[in-house]
Amino acid sequence: MRRCDAAVVGAGPAGVAAALYLARFGVNTVLVEKSAPGGLLLTTFEVKNYPGFPKGIKGYKLADLLSYHIQPYSNLTHVRAEVTGLRLEGRHMVLTVDEDRLEADCVVLCCGVGYRKLGLPDEDRLLGRGLSHCAMCDGHFFRGRRIGVVGGGNSALEESLYLTKTVAELHLIHRRAAFRAAPVYVDKIKAADNVVMEYNSIVTALHGSDKLEGVTLKRLPTGTEEFLPIEGLFIFIGFEPVLPDLPAEIVRDERGFIVTDAEMRSSVPGVFAAGDIRSKLCRQVVTAVGDGATAANAANSYLEQGNAR
Ligand code: NAP
Repeated sequence: MRRCDAAVVGAGPAGVAAALYLARFGVNTVLVEKSAPGGLLLTTFEVKNYPGFPKGIKGYKLADLLSYHIQPYSNLTHVRAEVTGLRLEGRHMVLTVDEDRLEADCVVLCCGVGYRKLGLPDEDRLLGRGLSHCAMCDGHFFRGRRIGVVGGGNSALEESLYLTKTVAELHLIHRRAAFRAAPVYVDKIKAADNVVMEYNSIVTALHGSDKLEGVTLKRLPTGTEEFLPIEGLFIFIGFEPVLPDLPAEIVRDERGFIVTDAEMRSSVPGVFAAGDIRSKLCRQVVTAVGDGATAANAANSYLEQGNAR
């Protein structure tokens, strides 16, 4: 079993910031991530609201910069593996990391979020066969085709704007008549000439055997249903927390996100949470980075005060 002072779980913007700050505090840190650093940045086309990049920066480029930034620290080890569980054992915390175990005096959970699903019967089967959660990864498959996008938040509209450059026709399917996305995106999407607004509508069925051929749209005011022939459907209806098995003592909100105080301390001493996994309203790259730095500061104080369980 490996041992460290601090374990950071997840290498999205929050995890990288937490690991970087812990390393600079001189803490012996292990950062565990099952894929490349960057988190959702790896599937984000462009980030336009990260201070310091007035022209925007491609998601993968920002992810690369984050990754380079944590390389020079000899007291920071990056382990490429999946954390499936966290247990409290006496004075220590023990993480299950693939087949191995990692013992730490404190843990910063930065596991991020995964895409919420519609909950329809054929959704898993058609994922990658017309269904997608990533415009940048899959948009090129639908060049000159008719597609749908579900959602009315920043993700749906931002990704739709990217897709309008490639597809022939984009049906934006939203369950209400008003978008919750920022006005800057709403104005742009309304001005696009290849977008058909499907307000007050939900997808009730997915059709296609080998690949998506269309969806059933239910019009909410009337309850009438109609078939919409589309070859692609991009689903951006929010996120769900991605978490390993956690002790019940770690308090979570009704949607499963970890409740913390302003210093990123969870209800269990020595367990901190940062970034999108945390119960909060504003989920941005910049807030994730701020959470990570704050969590590292609190974790370092916890270690300095000899608070290990
Ligand atoms: P979101 O803001 O939670 O929006 C989800 C959208 O999906 C809402 O319009 C919601 O409808 C709809 N929805 C939820 N469940 C649904 C269902 N079962 N069927 C149909 N529609 C459903 O999620 P998000 O857009 O992914 O954004 C998540 C967070 O990341 C937000 O804090 C957002 O601001 C942030 N973000 C920021 C940026 C940026 O700043 N550039 C970009 C992307 C994301 P209702 O509106 O009716 O609830």
